[in-house]
Amino acid sequence: MEDLFANQYPAANSKNLYADIILPVPIPKWFTYSVGLDIQDQIGIGYRVMVQFGKKKILTGIVAKVHQKAPDVYQAKPILDLLDDFPVVNALQIKFWSWMSSYYCCHIGEVMNAALPSGLKLSTESKVQVHPDFDFDNPGFPMDDREILLLETLSKHDEMNVEQFDQLLPGKTSHKIIKSLLGKGAILVYESVREKFSPKTEQRVRLTSKYIGKEGLLESLFEDLKGKEKQEAVLLKYLQQVSVFQKPEANAKGLEKKVLTDHGCSPSSIDTLVKKGVMESFKVLVSRFEVPPVSDHGIELSPVQQEALQQIHRQFEEKNTLLLQGITGSGKTEIYAQLIKDVLQSGSQVLLLLPEIALTTHLVHRLQKIFGDKMGVFHSKYSDNERVEVWQGVLKGKYNFIIGVRSSLFLPFDSLGLVIVDEEHESSYKQFDPAPRFQARDAAIMLSWMHQAKTLLGTATPSFESYYNAQNGKYGYVKIDKRYGNAELPHFFLADILQDKKKNLLKLDFTRLLREKIQATLNRQEQVLIFQNRRGYAPYISCDECGWIPECEHCDVSLTYHQYQDELRCHYCGFKEKVPVSCHACGSQKITTVGTGTERIEESLSLLFPEARIARMDLDTTRSKYGYQRILEDFSAGNVDILVGTQMITKGLDFDKVSLVGIVDADRILFYPDFRAGERAFQQITQVAGRAGRRDKTGDVIIQTRRPDQLIFRQIIAGNYNDFYRLEMAERKQFFYPPFVKNIKIITKHKDFKTAETAAKFLKNLLMDIAAKKIILGPEKSLIGKIKNLYLFEIWIKLDRSGNVQQFFKQQLMDRIAELQADKRFRAVRFLVDVDPY
Ligand code: ADP
Ligand code: ZN
Ligand code: ZN
Repeated sequence: MEDLFANQYPAANSKNLYADIILPVPIPKWFTYSVGLDIQDQIGIGYRVMVQFGKKKILTGIVAKVHQKAPDVYQAKPILDLLDDFPVVNALQIKFWSWMSSYYCCHIGEVMNAALPSGLKLSTESKVQVHPDFDFDNPGFPMDDREILLLETLSKHDEMNVEQFDQLLPGKTSHKIIKSLLGKGAILVYESVREKFSPKTEQRVRLTSKYIGKEGLLESLFEDLKGKEKQEAVLLKYLQQVSVFQKPEANAKGLEKKVLTDHGCSPSSIDTLVKKGVMESFKVLVSRFEVPPVSDHGIELSPVQQEALQQIHRQFEEKNTLLLQGITGSGKTEIYAQLIKDVLQSGSQVLLLLPEIALTTHLVHRLQKIFGDKMGVFHSKYSDNERVEVWQGVLKGKYNFIIGVRSSLFLPFDSLGLVIVDEEHESSYKQFDPAPRFQARDAAIMLSWMHQAKTLLGTATPSFESYYNAQNGKYGYVKIDKRYGNAELPHFFLADILQDKKKNLLKLDFTRLLREKIQATLNRQEQVLIFQNRRGYAPYISCDECGWIPECEHCDVSLTYHQYQDELRCHYCGFKEKVPVSCHACGSQKITTVGTGTERIEESLSLLFPEARIARMDLDTTRSKYGYQRILEDFSAGNVDILVGTQMITKGLDFDKVSLVGIVDADRILFYPDFRAGERAFQQITQVAGRAGRRDKTGDVIIQTRRPDQLIFRQIIAGNYNDFYRLEMAERKQFFYPPFVKNIKIITKHKDFKTAETAAKFLKNLLMDIAAKKIILGPEKSLIGKIKNLYLFEIWIKLDRSGNVQQFFKQQLMDRIAELQADKRFRAVRFLVDVDPY
């Protein structure tokens, strides 16, 4: 213990101590600063510090390392100030950030930015303000001219940043004066004092202590209040709610003021009682999260689930990562719950990752019933304050189990024992923009490894990556192919779109079979899910005469038609305009909408089934924080007969009354131009089909397609994942696709077409020279060649899988990009690197 200490914190009297600082700027390396004597015995990993960066900026950064080695190329500047009494992040987190930046080819400052909730975040420009207690007439120290000038200017503004001072005081002396005024308590530096996080409080009232235990005194109080009915009412209500007579100690907690006012008490009468000294008002900190009471009904695992659990335990003895492939409805949640209980009992922490869209569903509720307020939820739609509250909860040990979206990987865990990634195949685990462009499943495995914890990947339809690793023995593998309670799998039907079209049986995109099945389901008063893939269905408008399609002025895409607001919008830059009344090319007024988005399908359904109650769930209808939840609750309460939706409806639904699932157009999923199209089609169709029929009811699934002969449909219907996998993998091997190679995509962006292209060409040439097993494709204009007035070019790299090759290549890649960026011609070019870009 003592040795370890000595390493991290060299003796307080040593003179040359240095700290490597992570700064929130896109620079590749840590910067080394010297640690002044005054803070040598406080500073450590994870503390926030203020440092000067470049000539003008003062930045706040995080200490990554403390050591005694002076930098050899530059003279270390001193740390200006230490901002915290305790570290805000731990050493494991910094290790994780560091791995992420090197694996995903980005700067550690970018990872830090993604990791810290902005309530804790360090702004790049430290703001300065006059200390509220500072008194100009009585400063308490002699001020020189420059200090007076600075303070006077500052007092005219709410706050200023350091750059503004530089203009005020020539000769770059401002930071010294700031430092000195800071030390004298005359000014404040923004981050160090005004925490952006504000805890939630509740206003409460109680009787002042003199009345407690003295019934006589209370009686005479009522005498005094005779005629003041409103005050009397307050007192009576209070005594009714808080049993002061039976339990005098209950008074200490008091009563929320709102309870009184909700019961009709007048706020001003409450205030009067407070003024009189009869009551007192006080504030308490409360949680932003309401947790339902724990009510674990002691669910027993079925024999099949028991067996799976045993196998998981057994295989975890040898393997760190395990793939649990359990068909939809096999009850993976109950198995997770058992595993989580065990790990929590051993004193370790647990993280359960869920894809974005599944968060507000029965799974969370189910687990909340078991784990109550030990479990924290980390949602992407949370406000900053809510995020900080979860962060603090983990830090202080309030939560030892977190269920959350991909960014919950960054919470300050210090002893994870188990990480579960549910629906591990989900593509929403990948972050596309901004950097770090990480895959949360893969990052979870690394995080777990750093904690020496176990990782469980759960899904009905594994990603090829995970299945591959399970097949070659790198991961453990456990399979459940029975539904809980032996509920039957649904019956599948293929409906031929072209056949129906020929026979004039296709109505508003619905085949006769699907229409008849919907009608029959409605007649039985059961529910229907209609699925439409999100990709490639954005509706647009087009001229019937000449084919003109309105496009965005800034991007290379057609504008999307939003029926609800009756406008056209660009999904890349937000540009919008009214729907034109006539064609801009030929002037014709015959303008129609094209595309079969969910909105259009909803409309068709309401024409086909006018008596049915129809709802829609997609990005548009779930934008608000609880939008998703509201629609699901409505559906589960039986207020909706048909629910139309995108990917979102493929998970988190577990409703007994759904007996029909319709897939409007399976071909678009299958024939999407991407080597993963088949894998995705298998996953999506299987997942959405899994929503049909539960327990004692068998459901039906109708797949509409123009190509019912496709082999993949037979494999999906038979649930034959393994056959499907083997055939697809043969192709991937032949054409060098993942998981046989690793992909890296690089995009160059510039406002000038030629510059973007030339930069990409130069980069490609530099990359060709790197001695690593690779194939480099491109550069080519991106599929969408212009976004927000910037032109985009792409380079694709297929890289050998071995760890050494990857590490070497990535390091070289970053060096070459830095080299190009130093070139005057390419200074304004942006280079985006995306590792595992899918
Ligand atoms: P999966 O996530 O594998 O698709 P779920 O965990 O949603 O499956 O379980 C399917 C249904 O079966 C749920 O309604 C769940 O409550 C129920 N269930 C699963 N296991 C049990 C069990 N051991 N006892 C009672 N109900 C169970
Ligand atoms: Zn645009
Ligand atoms: Zn036209």
